[in-house]
Amino acid sequence: MPDYGLRGHAAVVTGSTSGIGQAMAHALAAEGVDILLNGFGDPAKIEADRAALEKSAGVRVLYHGADMTRPEQIADMVATAHTTFGRLDILLNNAGIQHVAPVEDFPAEKWDAIIAINLTSAFHATKAAIPLMKAQGRGRIVNLASAHGLVASPFKSAYVAAKHGIVGFTKSVALELAREGVTCNAICPGYVKTPLVEAQIADQAKARGISADRVVQDVILAAQPNKAFVEYPHLAGLLLYLVSDMGVSTTGAALSVDGGWTAA
Ligand code: NAD
Repeated sequence: MPDYGLRGHAAVVTGSTSGIGQAMAHALAAEGVDILLNGFGDPAKIEADRAALEKSAGVRVLYHGADMTRPEQIADMVATAHTTFGRLDILLNNAGIQHVAPVEDFPAEKWDAIIAINLTSAFHATKAAIPLMKAQGRGRIVNLASAHGLVASPFKSAYVAAKHGIVGFTKSVALELAREGVTCNAICPGYVKTPLVEAQIADQAKARGISADRVVQDVILAAQPNKAFVEYPHLAGLLLYLVSDMGVSTTGAALSVDGGWTAA
């Protein structure tokens, strides 16, 4: 493994009590990065996970329960990381939710929640982080978008709108900060086998009366040409590159990690 030169850096990872965010927080911590964790869940489990990561990685790990629908809580989260760690090098806007329904049946409150959590929260966190990163003369903003930031699927209108929105937001931020030593990029994964997706596989197998393997091949990975899930290390490798000094020339990019999905 290369030395990414990240020891002593500090990161905020939104939505890091589960799935991709949690895995990316662990990957950064393993490189010596102090971490602010965020997200929902059982407080006792969150505290146990926080303490375990702090011990195993030998970095400082903080938890902040900011709700990504609340701008003032998001600003407080970013300020808390900076005050506690004395710096802020990395912001990973990852928190996200999904709801699947035809547009004419799509609940308005689900639309609002998806836009707030998957798109607007990144604006608030980025807005709070930019002055701190500019003052340092270095920063890395990474937005966890999706293949759905580049192409659409039916019944996911709010998610596709939010993810296309975050790809556009990424480009604007990158242009504004191009001379400040601060980069901004989007990672666009295909299907990743998170607890959320595993639950979908079980539900679909039951609903359709077919095996879990057939659900994966014929339903979940129908659009993914390599017919294999994206795994956490495939995302972590790209993230570590982007936040290291090697990533300095990469900004405003929407980078696919999708087994060929968006090439089709
Ligand atoms: P997940 O459900 O496992 O994790 C989502 C995280 O966001 C959790 O920590 C949750 O507590 C947090 N969260 C949700 N609402 C929140 C709120 N209001 N305030 C604060 N935190 C909140 O999901 P995941 O699959 O790991 O997805 C993470 C990101 O990756 C999302 O943006 C998702 O759209 C994106 N993504 C996922 C996949 C996939 O296949 N799993 C593919 C492409 C993109």
